[in-house]
Amino acid sequence: MKKEDLRRVLEFYRAIGVESVPCEPKALPGKKAKTRRAAAGKGRPEKQKALSALFNGKIAGCTGCKLSAGRRNIVFGEGDPAARLMFIGEAPGREEDLQGRPFVGDAGKLLTSLIEKMGFKREDVFIANIVKCRPEGNRDPEEDEVGACLPFLKRQIEIIAPEAIMALGRVASQTLLGTTVQISKLRGNFHSYEGIPLMPTFHPAYLLRNRKDKALTWQDARQVLKLLGMESG
Ligand code: SF4
Repeated sequence: MKKEDLRRVLEFYRAIGVESVPCEPKALPGKKAKTRRAAAGKGRPEKQKALSALFNGKIAGCTGCKLSAGRRNIVFGEGDPAARLMFIGEAPGREEDLQGRPFVGDAGKLLTSLIEKMGFKREDVFIANIVKCRPEGNRDPEEDEVGACLPFLKRQIEIIAPEAIMALGRVASQTLLGTTVQISKLRGNFHSYEGIPLMPTFHPAYLLRNRKDKALTWQDARQVLKLLGMESG
């Protein structure tokens, strides 16, 4: 389909209220593909250096939003700077705030078991959140907080240049895709974040309360494994 025709079709979908169109990974647009290819070509040490520069230059001591007032630690994210797969959650919780590490509470244990079931170790992937400081009482991060913090995550994604992203839960999925579509409708299909295949799935904290949906999350994970060439059929 020609670019102009595709634009018209998408405009039509938007006009009738469709906010997000699932697509096959191979059909994902090549937006920023050049930048991503350049970043992907960089070695692990260069990426580690770029991530350290981001932390030291912009994030350490950040008071960019009101979450800085109640935090104990900034949770930058952790994992392989050259990871093929990134997991992105919403915000640090109590345990994460205390330890300065993402996904270390009960939900973190569940995420770790998913990562291992997928055939990775935790240190093989990169885990981060939409905001880097804990919202009090584990409330959702507010719009101004997301607006202040998101550029840091975007830069992390640009540096790491993963082949796929799993967005964990409503806040991460809707924020990265710029949509208000429910997570139950987004999950199960690849979407595009800046040309990177993004699979929305349930947040591990939700799965702790709704164990029956673990099977759906595993379906989502298997699609990601197929994309990465780690599972056939
Ligand atoms: S949440 Fe992000 S923007 Fe807000 S203070 Fe923490 S690091 Fe800075």
